Amino acid sequence: MDIKRNILLNPGPSTTTDTVKAAQIVPDICPREKEFQSIMAPMREDLVKIVHGGDDYTSVLFCGSGTICIDVVLNSLLAEGKKALVINNGSYSSRAVEVLTYYGLPFIDLKMPLDKSPELDIIEMTLKRNRDIGYVYMTHHETGSGLLNPISEVGALAHRYNAFFITDTTSSYAMIPINVYEDNIDFCMASAQKGIMGMTGLSFVIGKKSLIEKSKDFPKRSYYCNLYMQYDFFERTGQMHFTPPVQTIYAAKQALIEYFEEGEEAKWARHQRIMEAIHKGEERLGLKEMLSRDVQSGLVSCVRYPDDQNWDFDKVHDYCYERGYTIYPGKIESQGTFRLCALGAIDAPDIVGFWKVFEEALDHYDISVPVRYEA
Ligand SMILES: *Cc1c(COP(=O)(O)O)cnc(C)c1O
Repeated sequence: MDIKRNILLNPGPSTTTDTVKAAQIVPDICPREKEFQSIMAPMREDLVKIVHGGDDYTSVLFCGSGTICIDVVLNSLLAEGKKALVINNGSYSSRAVEVLTYYGLPFIDLKMPLDKSPELDIIEMTLKRNRDIGYVYMTHHETGSGLLNPISEVGALAHRYNAFFITDTTSSYAMIPINVYEDNIDFCMASAQKGIMGMTGLSFVIGKKSLIEKSKDFPKRSYYCNLYMQYDFFERTGQMHFTPPVQTIYAAKQALIEYFEEGEEAKWARHQRIMEAIHKGEERLGLKEMLSRDVQSGLVSCVRYPDDQNWDFDKVHDYCYERGYTIYPGKIESQGTFRLCALGAIDAPDIVGFWKVFEEALDHYDISVPVRYEA
């Protein structure tokens, strides 16, 4: 297949292999056929296997981008009379707060600094003072900044106060090794276009079966985005309740084969290698990051705009884009940042190629190297 290979340094969708792209081209099939169901059943098991869950965990597939899972878990898993606790230290946990607001559900928005690991004492105090918290919600990796959150510790706290622990692992799943038992996870989630390096349109919630079954009696607040309804339909029929993203599922099937071939450890090592190459180029050009290294995920580097009168993100972006490299604006309001992400089917030499083009762009627009910062 002769398809141009673009290096996506944006936070997903990520660069895919040609074999994953090609897997989408299949004979037309009605997804209600047994042949199609025979793809989804092992896929559901594989998705649980990636986070080392046993028979007590299951995965439930949805047709949509990753945000559908945020919507599903937040609205489906809150029992009557309970409230949600959102640890809010980035743009994705802010999204969770918005979802809860739109549903009109009771919640505590626990705002924490965006560039530091959250203080566990404050989280514990909040749980202690609010005995009606049904679940604690935290984003594992805040993709907007690159901050990694301590899910295992927060999961343990949630359990100590009899709350479920839900974590959005969309931008860490199948990249940073996760173990649902050691990380005290009741529910996590991801979408096919990030860690597993598939196509957009398939997302999944992985969670404890017993809790999903318990949620049968929780108020139903959405018809399309209800976790129990989707789970129950799968269990009874082997199918998604509504039309699945057929070709995306074929791509995900291939992506999972490639995931297990590469292996959890080797894949994480590759992501780290990519980030090392990103950091190396930043150091060479004098680019400064928003977050200190000790709180970074290792998957996203959030770079401050240089204080150079000639710096123009859009121009530098376009220069790189035209040469096959995509960089992405940051999500930290009030500060000019862009992001370089270590997702996808790329490796360190791709980053070396990127820095060469990036430096050319700086030169082309008369931006001084090493880059300058006022403070
Ligand atoms: C990408 C991402 C999502 C999903 O975003 P979509 O645009 O709906 O795909 C959710 N949470 C996190 C942390 C993410 O990085």
